[in-house]
Amino acid sequence: MKYQELVKPGVLSQPVYEPGRPIEDVAREFGLDPDGVLKMASNENPLGPSPLALEAAAKAMRQAHLYPDGGANRLREKLASTHALKPEQFFIGTGSNEVMVLLAQAFVGAGDEVIFGEHAFIVYKFATLLFGGTPVAVPMPGLKHDLNAMARAVTDKTRIIFLPSPNNPTGMANDPAELLAFAADLPEHVIFCFDEAYAEYLEAPADMRPLIEAGRKVFCTRTFSKIYGLASFRIGYGYGSPEIIRLLNQVRQPFNSNGVGQAAAVAALDDHDFVARSREVNRAGMDQLRAGFGRLGFACPESAANFVLLEVENPGQIFKALQQRGIIVRPLQGYGLPRHLRVTVGTAEENTRLLNTLEEMLAGPEAAWLKKEATERCN
Ligand SMILES: *Cc1c(COP(=O)(O)O)cnc(C)c1O
Repeated sequence: MKYQELVKPGVLSQPVYEPGRPIEDVAREFGLDPDGVLKMASNENPLGPSPLALEAAAKAMRQAHLYPDGGANRLREKLASTHALKPEQFFIGTGSNEVMVLLAQAFVGAGDEVIFGEHAFIVYKFATLLFGGTPVAVPMPGLKHDLNAMARAVTDKTRIIFLPSPNNPTGMANDPAELLAFAADLPEHVIFCFDEAYAEYLEAPADMRPLIEAGRKVFCTRTFSKIYGLASFRIGYGYGSPEIIRLLNQVRQPFNSNGVGQAAAVAALDDHDFVARSREVNRAGMDQLRAGFGRLGFACPESAANFVLLEVENPGQIFKALQQRGIIVRPLQGYGLPRHLRVTVGTAEENTRLLNTLEEMLAGPEAAWLKKEATERCN
């Protein structure tokens, strides 16, 4: 008998997650010096980790032989004061990715429907299928979440709606007032999981706390992987009512988030300079990249996050050709976007390197795979 015959159906239906390629792998495959390989593939912070977080992590390493605080008490207290909520309203996970999977584990079973956008973050679909739920993918005209269509997709079987703003990979954010109205109108049996992985990049993110305090079933997730530059520590969190947090605590492992990461996250929340600088570098880099892409004749939709889409004729070929030149970006077939690459905003120098490389390619044989007739140019 084969393992495939024994495994649960939810596992077999799992699509394979294709992460951004690690620098070491690309360097080895293409015979490059890893120090010269530039990764613009996973929306990581080009400034590196928060310095305060690094310092705290180094200190916490000396306790690596001890089990971490399973309740992540210090981090939850710090988050509570940061967000003006109570510690019992926070749930810590191994990345917000884990938080969302645990949410599905707790609330989704066979026959339950989970709603998300067709080009939304792919983990929503994974989490749904894993527990036997039915994914309901709602079209995203113009690559943006259509809140009206999502509201219309709700049925008696809907358990969770996942919605990120800005969305990964399309970069589009929804209007905060519209998001609040959408969340407020949902029926009682639906949990609204608002994914705020890139909220720190927004000028004015939608504030769901009043709805949470009013007892609405709103659960927000955030991460230390993006603006705080701590992706490798795998710390994310969710906040909502104490009731949902208690239920999530019943499904998590006793030590689901690591102690070094917890310590780093606590310190990162005080690193206001780093966050401000990261936002500034991102804003300038976004302008630089979009202007550069536009100049080269590419279409790229606007983005409110730390990455941008690039529309090309043959993403697979460009992805490879860029790797040969030491630059890793992200193809998006798995997201139903067969004509796009996703590029994480880098430092000014890194952005220049990418733009110069593309310009060179436009002068060579790769030009045919690059989209020259932009439908809607960047400006
Ligand atoms: C990166 C990302 C996350 C979370 O990542 P973790 O590293 O697991 O915290 C969540 N949602 C979206 C939309 C993301 O892009």
